[in-house]
Amino acid sequence: MRISKSFIPTLKEVPSDAVIPSHQLMLRAGMIRQLAAGIFSFLPLGYRVMKKVMDLIREEMDAIGGQEFHLPALNPIEIWEKTGRVEAFGDTLFQLKNRPLVLAPTHEEIIGWIAANHIESYKDLPQIWYQIQTKFRNEPRPRSGVLRGRQFIMKDSYSLDASWEGLDKSYELHAEAYKKIFSRAGLKFFIVGASSGAMGGTGSQEFMVESESGEDTCAICENCSYAANLEVATSNVVKASRVPADLPLKEIHTPNIKTIDELKDFLKVDESILAKSLVYIQDRTPYLILLMGNDQLNETKLQSIIGTNARPAHPEELLELTGADAGSIGPIGLKGFKIIVDKRLENANGLVSGMNKNDYHIANIDLMRDVKVDGYYDLRTVEAGEPCPQCNAPLRVVNAIELGHIFKLGTKYADSLNAKFLDVNGEMKPIIMGSYGIGVERIIACSIEQNHDENGIIWHKSIAPFIVHLILVNSNIESVVQVANDIYDRLNENKIDVIYDDRANVSPGFKFKDADLLGMPLQIIVGEKNVINHKIEIKDRKTNKRQIIDIDEVVTFVKNFINENDK
Ligand code: ATP
Ligand code: MG
Repeated sequence: MRISKSFIPTLKEVPSDAVIPSHQLMLRAGMIRQLAAGIFSFLPLGYRVMKKVMDLIREEMDAIGGQEFHLPALNPIEIWEKTGRVEAFGDTLFQLKNRPLVLAPTHEEIIGWIAANHIESYKDLPQIWYQIQTKFRNEPRPRSGVLRGRQFIMKDSYSLDASWEGLDKSYELHAEAYKKIFSRAGLKFFIVGASSGAMGGTGSQEFMVESESGEDTCAICENCSYAANLEVATSNVVKASRVPADLPLKEIHTPNIKTIDELKDFLKVDESILAKSLVYIQDRTPYLILLMGNDQLNETKLQSIIGTNARPAHPEELLELTGADAGSIGPIGLKGFKIIVDKRLENANGLVSGMNKNDYHIANIDLMRDVKVDGYYDLRTVEAGEPCPQCNAPLRVVNAIELGHIFKLGTKYADSLNAKFLDVNGEMKPIIMGSYGIGVERIIACSIEQNHDENGIIWHKSIAPFIVHLILVNSNIESVVQVANDIYDRLNENKIDVIYDDRANVSPGFKFKDADLLGMPLQIIVGEKNVINHKIEIKDRKTNKRQIIDIDEVVTFVKNFINENDK
């Protein structure tokens, strides 16, 4: 493609609403433009990358026996009502005003629907069905450019199996395919155990890229293989031990003491004997949650225990239910509450907590003696530096971007959509499903997050819009133009993707800057100085290494570069 004839609207300035590097660079390199919050146009350069990513995914999905579909994005709402997901998605689901239709945020429902109508017996199973298609989600605060769009492209696949062992196999096939996809795209990623969240199901893993721009947080062990989303991460943090003295409950006046830190300073005690009380409501039932000291409650863990509608009680509710405000609440004397306690405080005694009376606390609480505990669970959020649950080495806590997610769904969708098959013994059984997603735009943005410098993007060759950026330095010298034109033709004849900066009215310095910004892996620089000696210069965008080679060797050089394994 000749730059003189193409539409690549590069920008010199960084647009002020773009804060993360991939967003800034995609705008600056003329790959995308924002149409509205979370809605982006992919311009020709951006769309070339998108197509390369989709092709790469397609190859690996086909390799595990996936069959490609193209399902409608417009879905009758009644199918979504059957699975309860109109409610589960809530505001995230786009609904049409003039028809009972929704814009699909994912496609378990439609796959389940097709399976319910057309899969009859175990002989029709297993199946892997996939598509690469636009999804719609009314994300509350779309930031971060294409990393979180309201309209985005997902590769979603679904496995249909007759047995749980079959599901395990389909899941493994996907895990392997995902590793290949992300490795081939040149991404450094890690895999974490994840919460199955609103999808329901029995097992799930996320493929993550460490990045300051990430909205997920993960705990990673540098020493062993442990890595988990903070939503489910655990650690070997020290637990409370029982103290020998069996002291009676004691009221303490604690004027204006609201936080754990204030209480610790006031009482001059260790934080580990302070029990923090929080109140959550799940479907009208109030729950008192006890945590050690300043430990942070993990809402995802809580919701997986008491229910996904669990929410913090409002200040008025707190006062009405406990008789006190936040900061003075505790487990003694509460009525109508369920009390659940973090495992770190399992069977602990000698604790201090609120008295359910403003400005008062109670000391010497013994959870075995004084409190009817409804259950001990892992409820806390792991913090950096805590010992790894597998090997005790200190955990790192990092921000990360989720590239892909694999789920063992089980029979949830088959049950609600009545997707059944006749098994070997002639019995009707629900089809066992898995669901597997990859965000296409996220691969693109993550690749840029990981591979850029102050001058621009550094594309990995597998997804680069072009392999070669050919730069004509002296557009006013006919012999030089001839050589550049000739190289352009030869690269095209050899089916090598080349973008050719043939512009006549643009200075070489400007062309070099643009080439670095757009980030093609190889720059071929055709200038008078080398052409006189029948040579051209090649710059590797990643290593900055420059080489002078013979004009006749260009095609071979580029082909070798393409076929070379990554270092
Ligand atoms: P997140 O937690 O980031 O919202 P999710 O758990 O909702 O992601 P899934 O429903 O598992 O995502 O979707 C599968 C994949 O689709 C994700 O791993 C991600 O790569 C991509 N994806 C999800 N939401 C978006 C979005 N709003 N914009 C771009 N890609 C997305
Ligand atoms: Mg989401």
